[in-house]
Parts: sequence; structure tokens; C-alpha cells
Amino acid sequence: MAQIILPNSVIGILGGGQLGRMMAIAAKEMGYRIAVLENTDYCPAQYVADFYFKTTDYTDKKALDEFAHICDVITYEFENIPIATIEYLQNNCKAYIPQGSTPLKISQHRLIEKTTIQENGGQVTKFLPISTMQDIEKASAELGYPFIVKTCMQGYDGKGQVLIKHQADLQQAEALVKEQKCIAEAFVHFEKEISVIVVRNTQNEIITLPIAENEHRNGILHKTIVPAHISDQTTELATQTAINFMIQMDLVGTLAIEFFVVGSKVLFNELAPRPHNSGHFSIEAVSYSQFQQHIRAICGLPLGNSELLVPAAGMVNILGQHTEKAKRYFATHHTHNTYCHLYGKREEKHNRKMGHITILGKHRNLVVQEIDKIFNCL
Ligand code: AMP
Repeated sequence: MAQIILPNSVIGILGGGQLGRMMAIAAKEMGYRIAVLENTDYCPAQYVADFYFKTTDYTDKKALDEFAHICDVITYEFENIPIATIEYLQNNCKAYIPQGSTPLKISQHRLIEKTTIQENGGQVTKFLPISTMQDIEKASAELGYPFIVKTCMQGYDGKGQVLIKHQADLQQAEALVKEQKCIAEAFVHFEKEISVIVVRNTQNEIITLPIAENEHRNGILHKTIVPAHISDQTTELATQTAINFMIQMDLVGTLAIEFFVVGSKVLFNELAPRPHNSGHFSIEAVSYSQFQQHIRAICGLPLGNSELLVPAAGMVNILGQHTEKAKRYFATHHTHNTYCHLYGKREEKHNRKMGHITILGKHRNLVVQEIDKIFNCL
């Protein structure tokens, strides 16, 4: 049953990464209190949470009991929370989790994700399940080169995937195939990568954020520009496809859908049942950010307006290798309409997402120029 969760109530967040931190900041501005359950030390959300629970394991019953005891509503900030955790919280702790476990079940496993999308009328690139090296050979015959092998579970930011360009590369997939079940995907020669962030509240109200145009480097999101440089037809198609999927699957909360744009088609690439890196621009560039909308959605509040407040906006990620220079850059430069966010992570590892920069501007070309100028200094 949908409930209205009023400010001052405690919102529990499973996971304490940067998405949990930004969710918590948005919720605290609205007057909520935050409890975070996380399995690592010094996580970004713990410094902004009212209550912090450290566990070694997300299925630890004692930790879940203590956490659920103080929460009025529970959400999650990443898709690899075990399904058993949600089920234990719902069944044993009688916790209110409006999103339930369905979004996790779909997005935790690439094969289930792709099959569910197809069953609901969505288009995806051709794919095959992979369990053995013989399957890889068969995939090469069926998909042609190049193709991509990805682990079904736990892959993120380009980890757990290899691009097979020729027959000589086939062996590169061996380590992944030995590790777990995989999927082989035909390579998509896309024109653009875009994402649609759709939010649905517990009262069935739905909004989408402005469509983001994304550039990845080494499988990691590098840059997002809004508005995306796509036709009105593609905008309409991607938006409607995202909304339809959300309704057909009866999902609540936030769903970020990454699409490949190929001619007049949009092919689903990946789903994330949470606010998304490509929506970070919304903190400054729209009235209600993806984090505020998410909190409103799970608390049963009316959703806000998410149209752009400026003609254009862009976001670039700060990775471990850029962090020191980024700190110095923003400490020594006057910047206009430029916002640097750092997530408070202690270890600045190579390719680890440490923060992001958002730039607002009068025109997308100016935003791109400014982003590239700053990024080249990092
Ligand atoms: P993923 O983790 O599956 O989102 O992959 C990360 C990035 O790799 C995507 O954003 C694309 O830039 C690229 N990529 C993944 N799958 C494909 C594909 N089938 N064809 C072409 N590029 C892909």
C-alpha cells in the first residue's frame, strides 16, 4: 500500500556510495533524516547520514533488523543489493520498500535484463548466452566481428567485458567465461548514446528528465550534454519507450535507461533502477534534480518540474587520476556557472569516480568547449 512519508521521517538507503550521498543531501534539504547501511569503511554517504550502519554483509540479519527498526521507508542506491536482503526486510522486518525487488531482479543480470526488455516490446542488439568457449566460437559465427562479451553479473564501468575484434582475440574472453555466465552482444555502430531518466511515484505520477547525450571512455561515462543533439522523433521515441517500460513493469522510483541511437531506432543498452551518473547535471540545471525526484517518488509526494532552467548543461566526471588537479583548479580559478562536486572518497584510485563538474551555459557548443577546456587542465 502506498504511503505518504512526511519530512522528519527516516529514509533508509541500502548502499553508501556517491548516489546514496547525493540522495541523502537532497532528502535532508527536504527535512528527512537518513540512515545508511553499507559494507565498506569511509563511504561517501556516511558523512551526511544521521544514522550509519556498517555491516560486513548485506544479508546479515542482525544488521538488517537494526537498520529496519529505525527506517520509515527504505530505498537502494545500487543494483547489486542482494534480493534476499529486500525479501528479509519486507517479510521479517515488515519494512516499507515501495520499489520492491523487481527492479533489482531485472538489472542484476544482463540476460534477464535483455530478455525482459524484449518481452516488453523493447529493442536490443542481438545477443547470445555464453557458458563455454565453444559458445563463444558459435557467437562469433552468428554475430560476426566485432562483438562484445560481458559477464552477466557485477560488471560496471567497463569492468567484466571484452571487445572481440578478430578470431585472434577469442581467448581474451576465457577469463570471463571461467568466472561466471556471460552474454555475447553484437557490436552496435551507434550514432549516439543517450539516456532517459524516468521517475514514477507511488501514486502513479511519471516524469522524465531532459534526455542526456553521453560519451564513454574505456567503458566509463566521461561526459554528458543536455539537450541531446537528436531529432524530435528520437526524443519522443526514447521518452515514450522509457515511460512504457516503467508502466509495463509497474516500477516505482527512478529508472535510468541507456540507449544506443541507430538511425530512427533506439536500442536498449542497460538499465539502472536508481539515479544515474548521466543525470547529475539535474542538480543545478533543472528545478527538481533526479535525487529530489527519487525521494519524492518513494515518499509518495507529487513529482516536480524537471525541465531545463538553462539552454544547455554539461557534466564531466572526475576520476581518481584527475582529483588532485581538480581540487587545485577549483581552489585557484574564478569559475562562472561551473560547479565542482567531490564525493569525499578517501582513496583516489585510477578510474574510480571521485566527483563531477557541471557547467551551465547559453548554448550546448559553449558548454562543450568550456568542459573540454577545464578537463584538459586536469
Ligand atoms: P555497458 O557497461 O554495457 O553499459 O557498456 C559500457 C559502454 O561500452 C557503453 O556505454 C558503450 O559505449 C560500450 N558498449 C557496450 N555494449 C556495446 C555494444 N553492444 N556495442 C557497442 N558499444 C557497446
